[in-house]
Amino acid sequence: MELYAKDTESRQGEAMVLDGKVENNKKLFIESYGCQMNFSDSEIVAGILENNGFNTTSNMEEADLVLINTCAIRLKAEETVRKRLAEFNALKKKKPAMKIGVLGCMAERLKTQLLEEEKVVDIVAGPDAYRDLPKLLEEADDGRKAINVILSKEETYADLNPVRLGGNGITAFVSITRGCDNMCTFCVVPFTRGRERSRDPESIVNECKSLWLNGYKEVTLLGQNVDSYLWYGGGLKKDFKNATPEQRKNAVDFAQLMSRVAEAVPGMRIRFSTSNPQDMHEEVLYTMAKYDNICKSIHLPVQSGSTSVLERMNRKHTREEYLALIDKIKEIMPDCAISHDMIAGFCGETEEEHRETLSLMEYVKYDFGFMFAYSERPGTPAHKKMPDDIPEAVKKRRLTEIIELQQKHSLERHQSYVGKVYEVLIEGNSKRDENEWYGRISQNAVMVFPKVEGTKPGDFVMVRANSCTSATLLGEMLD
Ligand code: SAM
Repeated sequence: MELYAKDTESRQGEAMVLDGKVENNKKLFIESYGCQMNFSDSEIVAGILENNGFNTTSNMEEADLVLINTCAIRLKAEETVRKRLAEFNALKKKKPAMKIGVLGCMAERLKTQLLEEEKVVDIVAGPDAYRDLPKLLEEADDGRKAINVILSKEETYADLNPVRLGGNGITAFVSITRGCDNMCTFCVVPFTRGRERSRDPESIVNECKSLWLNGYKEVTLLGQNVDSYLWYGGGLKKDFKNATPEQRKNAVDFAQLMSRVAEAVPGMRIRFSTSNPQDMHEEVLYTMAKYDNICKSIHLPVQSGSTSVLERMNRKHTREEYLALIDKIKEIMPDCAISHDMIAGFCGETEEEHRETLSLMEYVKYDFGFMFAYSERPGTPAHKKMPDDIPEAVKKRRLTEIIELQQKHSLERHQSYVGKVYEVLIEGNSKRDENEWYGRISQNAVMVFPKVEGTKPGDFVMVRANSCTSATLLGEMLD
């Protein structure tokens, strides 16, 4: 079983649309896969193309341009995209003028294969090349194969106004960093998205203010490792060592950024994802505790409960250090929800190491988790140096044990919320019953409850949790 980020899980492959400009006469069909960053990037892409004559459509058949924003994190994600490309190609046979483009994390890895060998696509653009799309389109219109997968040291798309696609008009993603420097041995991100750089805090605050003015009630600040956010005037995080004394003095870290956002939009809920244990410092926790509008929920991937596996993964912290951080979170914010990412069956994982993962989960009792079987990715340090030696059946069994334990803990955590009253941000209709609202509490748990006259999406309401499942709280609104 593979899971994607809670918000994006149900949106995999979603075609994203919005009204657009009346003067535009071309149609863009854009579909996104993978993490929240990809969904956020598709909005940047739609924003760029909206200024170049394209409005979005949910009907692939009428599109002049079909873009697929791809994910390379696991083999399965890539396979899904390849199947979809085959479908696009079948349509292109009927509509030869239609152009197909591959964006995102598969662009760098599969560029030659996609453009030259399989001749499936016309345009390939990596995550830092989206400003170049209008030029790439011209090249494709001239019958040339158009490609830009260059990774940038500076690009953060800070000045661009993303077009909000396919969302609920209530919650939005705001990118604060791009790329990743962590070099976890299993992970392709540093190779597909480049080195870590932070976005100008002023542009982040302005984007949040503008969202608030447009009726949005919640932002999720996004990055591969948000706690490592550091603005010192632009440039790569790794080059901070060369910063001038002036740049150092004026540098803004993640805790300071969160304070600025929390104060700039006091009525808005603020979430963030993802945190890396090695970079999450006390200051961030105290900032979360200080502001009511910062949600009490931390996504803190651990990947394994065993120090020796963490070392092989190059995670730069031990089991004990991770558990000390968990203790700190619980001490500073006893009501804070904690979620995780976990990988089963990483290279050389013994039964004992696997049991350490289960015991770590028992200690933390996470609210929620994204759990994966290890998938070897070409070009990563693990692929180069460590055999992928855990048989698939063993990986699968260990993953099942992890998922079953998580389901038990999710239920226990939800049961601990029952009987209490929570502020819920209404996001829309419940999927099962249109007489019920669907929303989230600060701890990110989903609450479903009967609609009350006069309430609407975007309202903050007080709801008592009356019962629960491992996935949902069921409640009733208070007067
Ligand atoms: N930046 C975050 C971090 O490092 O904690 C998240 C990165 S990734 C987009 C999301 C999750 O995918 C990871 O936390 C990890 O659990 C999972 N993942 C990454 N590479 C994987 C691989 N090769 N096989 C299985 N799962 C993987």
